[in-house]
Amino acid sequence: MTEQHALVWEGGTVVAVRPVTVPESRPGWVAVDVAFAGICGSDLHIADGKHIRAQPGQVLGHEFVGHLAEPYGDLPVGQPMFVNPTVHCGVCEACLAGRTNVCHTLTLVGIDYPGGVAPRTVVPGYGIYSLPADVDLVAAALIEPLAVAVRAVRRSGLALGDRAHVVGAGPVGCLVGLLSTAAGATVTVSEPSASRRKYAAELGLTIVDSPDDLGHGADVVFDASGHTSVAGELPRWLRTAGTAVIVGAYHPGLHGVDLLSVMFGEITIIGTRIYQRSDIEAAIELVTTGRFDAHRLISKVFRLGEAVAAIDSLRRGEGMKVLIEPGQPRGT
Ligand SMILES: [Zn+2]
Ligand SMILES: [Zn+2]
Repeated sequence: MTEQHALVWEGGTVVAVRPVTVPESRPGWVAVDVAFAGICGSDLHIADGKHIRAQPGQVLGHEFVGHLAEPYGDLPVGQPMFVNPTVHCGVCEACLAGRTNVCHTLTLVGIDYPGGVAPRTVVPGYGIYSLPADVDLVAAALIEPLAVAVRAVRRSGLALGDRAHVVGAGPVGCLVGLLSTAAGATVTVSEPSASRRKYAAELGLTIVDSPDDLGHGADVVFDASGHTSVAGELPRWLRTAGTAVIVGAYHPGLHGVDLLSVMFGEITIIGTRIYQRSDIEAAIELVTTGRFDAHRLISKVFRLGEAVAAIDSLRRGEGMKVLIEPGQPRGT
């Protein structure tokens, strides 16, 4: 198999499903047959020509699960697995300190290397996690964004009985809200899109419109929006000495925050970036034991041939997490 169909960003705002060369393995990497790949905000950034690193011709998809297409160590062909799509250098100060998720030259499968909206791709061997033989791979496709949310909630220091507010009710915002609820917080969510507000409400999350609706500030505000208009509002969502957690990726550049209110209120602002091994392990545990019902967040599964329609539906703000099923035979 030297060619396969894949979802490709062609440049500008054009995406297409078209033939590409099947990526070849490289030392330390392993070939994977993709079962399901999620589409996320980063993919839409790329598809809209707004991602700072992606180059035209990029095969999309960094949220995927599948089966080993070749043996790896003791793992046989066909082993179900989750893939951590990040590629770290191993030698920078962050990597040497064990913080590979903030490697100074971090890159991703699906942004810098051929991604998972394709029947087959290759991934670093250190990034694969075995899943149970009977795993529900549709649910498992949510492990990647769930691991993002696990890390965000862990980084926040959220405690039982706290009040948490989430700005942005996309998949990660909703996951952060649901995990915060599970962690014993009282959670509110704000979101401008009517369809996303409706979806979040159906997930059991309480929607508010502005900080004035809270009555008093939250202990923790999660910014899952990455939108510059939100940055200036963050202190207003918080009580004195509250914590703002930046979860969503902002465009490069400066975004205004009222630093006097940060200083007067002794507010803490922290960042959280993707996940570390322990966050992924927690997300795998939550999904594979059924303690977290991933299906509630998955609004639709599209075939590969419908992937452009899937992107367009997300551009229109429809649904929540959508998956693509590349759908070609394994082991070819
Ligand atoms: Zn993503
Ligand atoms: Zn590094």
